[in-house]
Amino acid sequence: MSSTAATTVLDYDYFIVGGGAAGLSLAFHIAQEPRLATKKVLLIEPEAKNQNDRTWSFWADEPTAFDGIVAHEWRRIAFRSPGFEQIIDLGRYRYKTINGLDYYRFVRRALAGNPQFRFEQGSVTALVNTAAGVHATTSAGEFTARYAFDSRPPDLAKLKQPEKHRYLLQHFVGWEIETDADVFDPATVEFMDFRGEQYHEARFMYVLPQGPRKALVEYTLFSENVLPKAEYEAALRDYLSTTLGLKTYRIVAEEVGAIPMTDHPLPARQGAHIINLGTRGGRAKPSTGYAFKRIQQHSQRLVEALASTGHPPLDATGDKWQFRLFDTLLLDIMQRRGETTRDIFRQLFERNSVERIFRFLDETTSWADNFRVMNSVTPWPFMRSIVQVLRGRPGRRS
Ligand SMILES: Cc1cc2nc3c(=O)[nH]c(=O)nc-3n(C[C@H](O)[C@H](O)[C@H](O)COP(=O)(O)OP(=O)(O)OC[C@H]3O[C@@H](n4cnc5c(N)ncnc54)[C@H](O)[C@@H]3O)c2cc1C
Repeated sequence: MSSTAATTVLDYDYFIVGGGAAGLSLAFHIAQEPRLATKKVLLIEPEAKNQNDRTWSFWADEPTAFDGIVAHEWRRIAFRSPGFEQIIDLGRYRYKTINGLDYYRFVRRALAGNPQFRFEQGSVTALVNTAAGVHATTSAGEFTARYAFDSRPPDLAKLKQPEKHRYLLQHFVGWEIETDADVFDPATVEFMDFRGEQYHEARFMYVLPQGPRKALVEYTLFSENVLPKAEYEAALRDYLSTTLGLKTYRIVAEEVGAIPMTDHPLPARQGAHIINLGTRGGRAKPSTGYAFKRIQQHSQRLVEALASTGHPPLDATGDKWQFRLFDTLLLDIMQRRGETTRDIFRQLFERNSVERIFRFLDETTSWADNFRVMNSVTPWPFMRSIVQVLRGRPGRRS
């Protein structure tokens, strides 16, 4: 490769590393943009992606590019904690779920036959910024590209700085179950059922009914460490028998996961020509673990800038500092006094409309609404965590 960017011939315009949620999202959005129709794209992914390894759920008040593969959508959510239960009509919002396998197939099918794209099964071992772009070393060979978009999961275990940042996980085991009698309300998601024992953490049940006799039931925790699998299973069995009163049911599938919830700085880019995507680029919201919609918005932002300027945007994510601070405060409370989490969510749901909560979590609320949200929750835990933030030290359970 010669050293002048303008004259260097590169193998590809864009190199996408990883074909999971974020890599495929970016590829899909590039393919939808006529102004990028001449760009050559290489995507490298090590896995066959032929398993339904996860389901993505999200709320939306407008059509999304993937509505055609939405497996289920709901008009209501339920929030429950001791002494407070509410079934909430979502108004103009819908809560939606997409099966991972449907998404992988849909995007690959949409791009098959498009001469812009080349897919390789392999893994990337090194990405290096050069004057003209990026040099990639992969198991499928060496390549150059103008820009690389990297969605390899970040190695947080190695990067961790617990004296500076907060490291929690949203971890869960879910069973898709079938029953012989009608048990579930197919229009209502059990969004957070906090009625179970908290064990000084944030622990709740999350239920996605697919019909009156079928649902995904997940025991979900926001905490620092995963549990032995038997503990999730015991909690699931207890919920099914005690809360739902089920004597018999069949487990037809299982979902297991751990999503990082952290305020560790996950940079939006690595140098001039490498942009981080997905979890690696901080798209999993630190205080909730939700990432799917943020990933789609990130792809749209990148594609719009690439099409209009030829470059990724300087501010690759558009994240706003005030929401980053709210996330850090909530993480600090979860880490310091996890059992307080359910009271905070309870106050949020008791005192705000679901539209305001969703907009706040989507980071689109105005300053006035941010104030209303913060004013709706007990201030003391937040004050203590503000002190921790000012000291530059994460709170610890005392
Ligand atoms: C079980 C589960 C359920 C989830 N449910 C939700 C949900 O309901 N709603 C929501 O908003 N978020 C959810 N999330 C969080 C988030 O949306 C997902 O983790 C999402 O898949 C993150 O997208 P990603 O592209 O960053 O990572 P991935 O989808 O994991 O993609 C990364 C890809 O990089 C590939 N890769 C790894 N190493 C290399 C290498 N060396 N070279 C090339 N490629 C490599 C991997 O094989 C993988 O395909 C869930 C996460 C999990 C684990």
